[in-house]
Amino acid sequence: MADSQIPILHSRNAGVWPSVDPTAGWQRLLAVTRSVALQFALETNGWALHLVATIGFLEVRMRSLVKTVLAVMWVGIAFSISGNVQAAEGKVKVLIVTGFDVASHKWEESSRAVHAILQESGRFDVTVSTDKEVFASSELKDYDVVILSYGFWKEAEPGEQAKSGLLDYVRNGGGVVALHFACSSFQDWQEYAVLLGRVWKQGVGGHGPYGEFEVNIKDPKHPITKGLQDFTTEDELYSKLTGDEEIEVLASAYSEWSGKVEPIVFVKRYGEGRVVQNVLGHSMASKQNAAYQRLLINGVEWAATGNVTAK
Ligand SMILES: [Zn+2]
Repeated sequence: MADSQIPILHSRNAGVWPSVDPTAGWQRLLAVTRSVALQFALETNGWALHLVATIGFLEVRMRSLVKTVLAVMWVGIAFSISGNVQAAEGKVKVLIVTGFDVASHKWEESSRAVHAILQESGRFDVTVSTDKEVFASSELKDYDVVILSYGFWKEAEPGEQAKSGLLDYVRNGGGVVALHFACSSFQDWQEYAVLLGRVWKQGVGGHGPYGEFEVNIKDPKHPITKGLQDFTTEDELYSKLTGDEEIEVLASAYSEWSGKVEPIVFVKRYGEGRVVQNVLGHSMASKQNAAYQRLLINGVEWAATGNVTAK
């Protein structure tokens, strides 16, 4: 899927919850409908293409007096298409939440890379949201797994509804995969630290210089690491993460900076949900590493389903 076709569910700048612009709802409905219809058209034999054309036509007509009637129709179209997409594909439904990061990480580039790796594996149907308030959405439950692809300790916490939305989602069986600097976010949100198991506390966590190091597979029998061997990568080796939650370490690395063996990929439970944290992935080169990509793909599928079927 080309970059321009990544469906952006909720724009960070749109003020989606709550909407203050009375026309924002229309625009959003149009955007979502177009996006879903296009994606559906691309992934079916093409019969849905006429829907895209119809929507384009209707969009022009929207400017006339029939807004209300058409809007009701569109909701129906959007709803039925979404239903069809979910039913027809049988893929793991993934939501990447991104939209902010420190200057040394370009979140858009980074999340597009993660999107591409997952999409190319053929196992996933990936949507991107650039608004952390998406955790408050009733749509969250439609996803099998949420990927946290952001990181900045100065970023404001999500609203209360969004915070409990994410926690409830995982408690009820939703999967979470936290990537790289996601563990630094929301420093004062204590339950976020419990959810992730280990977090980067400002002034405590750190890493030596970006460069090559060896990652050791600690549990080659786990579905996420099965078939993988120790590998060398070029990345940041996160060290001295904070937390005493019970975690199962699947991959680790020795940090000269901390003088300790540090957890690199680890899993835990939160309620009924599965949580995976993979602290690798600083640069685009880091993300091109084949073992990194395997750990990412396997981690996302396992967090969603408890199994790994991707080859
Ligand atoms: Zn980094």
